[in-house]
Amino acid sequence: MACKTQLKERKMKRELDLVTPGQPAMDGDGVKMTRMIGTPELNLLDPFLLLDAFGSEQAEDYIGGFPAHPHRGFETVTYLLAGRMRHKDSAGHEGVIEAGGVQWMTAGRGIVHSEMPEQEDGLLQGFQLWVNLPASEKMQKPVYQEFPAAEIAHEYADNGSVVRVIAGRTNRGTRGPVANQIVDPLYFDVSLPNQQRFEQRVEKDHNTFIFVIEGELSIGDEQGTRKLGILTEGDEIVVFARGDTRFLLISGRPINEPVARGGPFVMNTKAEVLQAFEDFQTNRFLEK
Ligand code: FE
Repeated sequence: MACKTQLKERKMKRELDLVTPGQPAMDGDGVKMTRMIGTPELNLLDPFLLLDAFGSEQAEDYIGGFPAHPHRGFETVTYLLAGRMRHKDSAGHEGVIEAGGVQWMTAGRGIVHSEMPEQEDGLLQGFQLWVNLPASEKMQKPVYQEFPAAEIAHEYADNGSVVRVIAGRTNRGTRGPVANQIVDPLYFDVSLPNQQRFEQRVEKDHNTFIFVIEGELSIGDEQGTRKLGILTEGDEIVVFARGDTRFLLISGRPINEPVARGGPFVMNTKAEVLQAFEDFQTNRFLEK
């Protein structure tokens, strides 16, 4: 048994706090997905407003895509595991996100864009995460950070694990390409072979979750496939793979401000959301 002083000096390991399977959802023009954050069960994990996981080989599940729609007040992060998505905005910015690539878009004061599958069949799989902005940044100019798979840092370890680092820094010093000083995020996509361990330092008070894409992890308790596990506070994560496992590890500094949601607009007050709707409907949306 460790005495109290020893316990104090030890790092505080994070444990599983809540595990959710999410809920089936449909968005855009009939795109089927599972909503993991932004549900009645888990409305918000500050600064994360929403997490959608999509993945289907059936074209009818995704072919409608997300025709032109606005955003204001937060960031959207699209990460693709398979397939291709074309995005196009009202300011003429256009590109294709391919498997392994990420687009971190700061919508700020406003953007109108479409996100459409660039394929008519085959697997389309990935995630969209919404990251909130504090009041001081909600009306900033829109900014894109886009990186194809080749520009995502890959860290290979002797135990066969691969960490694709989109944002943040691993224990061994590999840094992801995305810059974000507001929530100082970690966004890792980790492949961990059966019976192997993965350890990562995290900021003690940052909200942190793991989404198991395939396989099964043990984080104290077991966590199965296609589930999101919220972790307790602490400065260290240790997970153990029960089978060949792939998972997302995402963490960010909470913004701790009131959140007023109105569909594609996330502001601090209801009045600001109504203003966003009005600006959008009267074509004053982008100039604001
Ligand atoms: Fe969008």
